[in-house]
Amino acid sequence: MTVTFKLSTDQLAIRSGARAFAESVLTAVKPEIDEYAKPDERFYATRPFYAKMVDAGFVKALIPAEYGGAAMSTLNFALGAEELARVDINVPSAVLATGLGLQPVLRFGTELQKSEFLKPFIEDGMRLAALAFTEVTGGANFDTPDPRFGVRTFAIREGDDWVINGEKHYTTNGTGWDGKGAHLYSVVCRTDPGKGPAESLAVIMVPGDTPGIKVTGILDTLGHRATISPRMRFENVRVPARNIIGSPGQGGKIIGTAFAWTAALIGAATVGVMRAAFDCALNFARTDRRSGPVPVIEHQNVGYMLADIKMRIEAARYLSWKACEQFDLSGGSDHELPHMAKVYCSELAVQVVYDAMRLVGVDSYTDMHPLASLMQDALCFPLYDGGNMGVRRRQLHELIRSPSYDPLAAAEGIHD
Ligand SMILES: Cc1cc2nc3c(=O)[nH]c(=O)nc-3n(C[C@H](O)[C@H](O)[C@H](O)COP(=O)(O)OP(=O)(O)OC[C@H]3O[C@@H](n4cnc5c(N)ncnc54)[C@H](O)[C@@H]3O)c2cc1C
Repeated sequence: MTVTFKLSTDQLAIRSGARAFAESVLTAVKPEIDEYAKPDERFYATRPFYAKMVDAGFVKALIPAEYGGAAMSTLNFALGAEELARVDINVPSAVLATGLGLQPVLRFGTELQKSEFLKPFIEDGMRLAALAFTEVTGGANFDTPDPRFGVRTFAIREGDDWVINGEKHYTTNGTGWDGKGAHLYSVVCRTDPGKGPAESLAVIMVPGDTPGIKVTGILDTLGHRATISPRMRFENVRVPARNIIGSPGQGGKIIGTAFAWTAALIGAATVGVMRAAFDCALNFARTDRRSGPVPVIEHQNVGYMLADIKMRIEAARYLSWKACEQFDLSGGSDHELPHMAKVYCSELAVQVVYDAMRLVGVDSYTDMHPLASLMQDALCFPLYDGGNMGVRRRQLHELIRSPSYDPLAAAEGIHD
């Protein structure tokens, strides 16, 4: 078998379809959301755009054919993610958050759970799922072995039910489309306050109409201006015992796999944002003379900067593709390259947008160019989806210090 980056006919169609969709639909998102001062209003204003994403098949692409969907591989999803994120990060993030909320069922659910929780998303693609992971007291130490710390949302077994109490925030999509809640939550919790994550960490599916779920506030974010980051309270939320995914103690593996999927895709999304910055810088360099005799691209510093930006974009894209492929080939079990794509590409994206701003100069700091707004979005990438400092590097450290760590396994496509 040869190593090839040549896309198949289907993949070329995914990429060109996503590119055309982004150009024709998502270019209108920013002018629309700029009309609104409050974060929830901005999110609700994206609803028609989300509906178009549904019509174009992006939600179906999350769900396997057995349940009515048209699941795409992570790599194929990445081809679309790059194109979408180049134009808008908000609406694709809502789809990604639904995908993240469904990952525990998709990858670890029983047939019954898949049928119960996935099919409604095919019947009504406007339904929103959310992963309620981040505690209001912090997310990084969710796996601290000492049971006195870590996840403080508890699900206590009472007869045939789990009764859930706790507070979360940054639960993307958690408000639903009307502030009354999402349609489905996967809630990260512990089933015993006296037991650490290895025995008690769990993911439990909670339908959005279950009594006791409250949106208690909305966080306003620097970028990703129309994704929604609510604070949520789960107060005596009672769901059937069968809603647990796997068993208590398997939460770490389930969450890790779900976040490895998003990690690889965020790598691809950052490439889209970097491309938007490059396009802006290149256009400026070719067309603007800044009162000088020649377009600024003729200055060596400008040309070198463009070359540096472009090199990083190419490197980030192929690392993300490989991360996606390795994740798929390993059946979702190999997380090294997804973590690396998340850390490396997210930090590169901030540097790339900053360098594009340095190239364009002072006007980049205004609304004359899209770069200031791209910087607001880029700054989120290293911080969210498991911050690079508190979560992702720690996960890589864990892998690398394991006695069975094989430094060539990911590169050579070896997996269990
Ligand atoms: C737009 C957006 C969308 C999001 N969507 C979701 C979502 O859908 N669902 C969800 O649950 N969460 C979501 N989040 C939250 C996100 O996933 C967080 O990144 C994650 O919970 C961890 O945050 P953190 O790494 O900053 O951890 P924190 O616990 O806040 O830690 C903060 C800092 O403390 C230090 N630190 C703490 N503990 C350690 C440690 N053990 N080792 C080393 N350093 C440490 C690190 O410097 C770290 O950066 C979202 C956030 C944003 C901004």
